[in-house]
Amino acid sequence: MDRRSLIKQAGIAGVLAAGVAPAVHAQAAVRWRLASSFPKALDTIYGGAEVFAKQVKAMSGGKFEISVHSGGELMPAFGVVDGVQNGTVELAHTVPYYFYGKNPAFALGSAVPFGLNARQMNAWMKHGNGRKLMNEFYANYGMLSFAGGNTGTQMGGWFRKEIKAVTDFKGMKMRLGGGLIGEVMQKLGAVPQSIPGGEIYQALEKGTIDAAEWVGPYDDQKLGFNKVAPFYYYPGWWEGGPEVDFFINQKAFAALSPENQAIVEAAAAYANSDMLAKYDALNPTALKQLVAAKTKVLPFSQPVLEASFKASMEVFAENNAKSPEWKKIYEDLRAFQRDQVLWFRFAEMRFDQFMASQKL
Ligand code: CA
Repeated sequence: MDRRSLIKQAGIAGVLAAGVAPAVHAQAAVRWRLASSFPKALDTIYGGAEVFAKQVKAMSGGKFEISVHSGGELMPAFGVVDGVQNGTVELAHTVPYYFYGKNPAFALGSAVPFGLNARQMNAWMKHGNGRKLMNEFYANYGMLSFAGGNTGTQMGGWFRKEIKAVTDFKGMKMRLGGGLIGEVMQKLGAVPQSIPGGEIYQALEKGTIDAAEWVGPYDDQKLGFNKVAPFYYYPGWWEGGPEVDFFINQKAFAALSPENQAIVEAAAAYANSDMLAKYDALNPTALKQLVAAKTKVLPFSQPVLEASFKASMEVFAENNAKSPEWKKIYEDLRAFQRDQVLWFRFAEMRFDQFMASQKL
């Protein structure tokens, strides 16, 4: 018996026994279901939805409860936009770029190659046009969004061979997240592979793939990639600051009281900053352990980055021609990024560079 019917049964039993209505506090006034795209084992990214649900419950004094369901539990991990759109669930916790196949514009709500870092993404979304433009686009799917986490700049992934020149990508079978980076890597000669997180290790071990990217040291170490691919490259230039989102069914959100709407917004903001803080706190230890276990941590060379940048710009131009939604949002993002890069070059970059060169 599930919890809902248990409570119902207990309520009826209470009425029969005492002849009075069951206590009001026995049941939350609002109950929502959240479909996550992530497996429970990833406490950082899956955990973001649990942090959110806990905050909603606490802020509402227990009157608003959200049950969190892992990827595949209620619907396929990549079926959650359909689930929100048709009202099977009230909301989802996912990465917008997974839905690139529906429309390239989805990628702009999370990360595009050589896009914004986590700080800049928050600035664009909250105080630029980002959230407004993305929500105009998401309205086509009957949903609205709130930021629900960020990993920070990701690592470039695990390779069985060194990448000395961009020609080393030729014919390389690489597991990649999302269709946009797949199109860019294809231009560089790689053969993109779409493999769920739980199956990457085996594919790398067997040699069915030559390389794989996932997130960063903490999550990657959990999946054991260092045991099957010795070279760990950085940065993941396709994910400078990928945003994880809460996608909410518009009608369900409109049906909430103004108080509960404010609670959802505040709890999402809490979960958003909490995830980035968690990754930043956990990654250094994992990186040190990986290096101690003989992982070779290497930067992509300047020529490799420049060729990747050029290939990305070609794909963006193709998207400008394909999707008017992409073009409108992309142009706003790039204009915002030009100013962000200008500003970050001064105080932030000089400070970080200096600190990185000091003995602490
Ligand atoms: Ca990734």
